Amino acid sequence: MADFSGFEHCVRENEPLAPFTWFRLGGAAEHFAEPTSVDELAGLVKRCRDQETPVRMLGGGSNLLVRDRGVAGLVIHLSGAPFAAVTTDGDKVTAGGGAKLSQAISVAVRDGLAGLEPLVGIPGSVGGALRGNAGAHGADVGQWVDSATVMTNTGETITRGRDELRFTHRASNLDELVILDATFKLEPGDPVALTQRMQKLWIVRRSQQPTGDQGAGRAFKDPSGATASSLIEQAGIKGIRVGGAEIFDRDPNFIIAGPKATADDVTQLLELIQSQVHERVGVELERELEIW
Ligand SMILES: Cc1cc2nc3c(=O)[nH]c(=O)nc-3n(C[C@H](O)[C@H](O)[C@H](O)COP(=O)(O)OP(=O)(O)OC[C@H]3O[C@@H](n4cnc5c(N)ncnc54)[C@H](O)[C@@H]3O)c2cc1C
Repeated sequence: MADFSGFEHCVRENEPLAPFTWFRLGGAAEHFAEPTSVDELAGLVKRCRDQETPVRMLGGGSNLLVRDRGVAGLVIHLSGAPFAAVTTDGDKVTAGGGAKLSQAISVAVRDGLAGLEPLVGIPGSVGGALRGNAGAHGADVGQWVDSATVMTNTGETITRGRDELRFTHRASNLDELVILDATFKLEPGDPVALTQRMQKLWIVRRSQQPTGDQGAGRAFKDPSGATASSLIEQAGIKGIRVGGAEIFDRDPNFIIAGPKATADDVTQLLELIQSQVHERVGVELERELEIW
């Protein structure tokens, strides 16, 4: 059992993870930390390294399925204020890794900076968005990143500039343990026009995706030349379900977990969709959703 003495004020044992994820499923984290400063975070990371405790970062939990048996080691959640600030300086917006992506977008739009607004409605944190290069409407978060500050698994803090960063479809080379913050270099725009654009996109999105009060998650990456949704549709399997998990009727690339669903139901449904799409349409879908 890992020893977190000295960190009792910010580390809890056997913390249920379901409330921190969009699926609202799965077991507990053996240890769960909400550090209150960067130094404290570095201390925790070093402690994990010294005692070989596995450590994972939790953002908004919108791209995660936690297995029913839970997670060994330490899960770190950047919920503290030092990780959530969003500030503007000229044409740049800097957002903490724990800030909501929606907040970074709102601040940019309010301050007349264009670029991030097509991403409105993507749930989760800035850290999670950068890790997986979240995107929508042909735009992605990575295209606007000017630099990112990260923490390695030794607790060292490094700033990586644009030329060191690579973003591809739902992936990035930001593979250090923690994304502490990101600076976006944006373009000048009219706040009123940007707000209107953002509101329109948000209204459309709300009608097409599950709401936060349903247990839900997005399943697969879009393979080149097609969307995962259209391939699932083509396979003619929209009505299938496993236990309490089913395909969302308005967009088949979302899985809905009903009140009686287990994480195991969701993983089985994901596998069934993959095998059926492969058999009927000949395409191997790659999972976007991360399973812990
Ligand atoms: C309703 C719905 C709609 C969605 N729509 C879209 C969409 O349009 N486009 C899209 O791209 N995705 C979409 N997604 C998927 C998801 O919202 C994105 O992948 C999102 O960016 C994940 O961010 P998160 O903070 O929730 O990350 P989490 O799910 O908490 O974590 C995802 C990964 O990021 C890592 N991570 C999180 N924070 C940090 C950090 N600070 N430092 C290092 N690593 C970190 C985690 O360890 C994990 O590996 C949608 C999901 C849902 C449920």
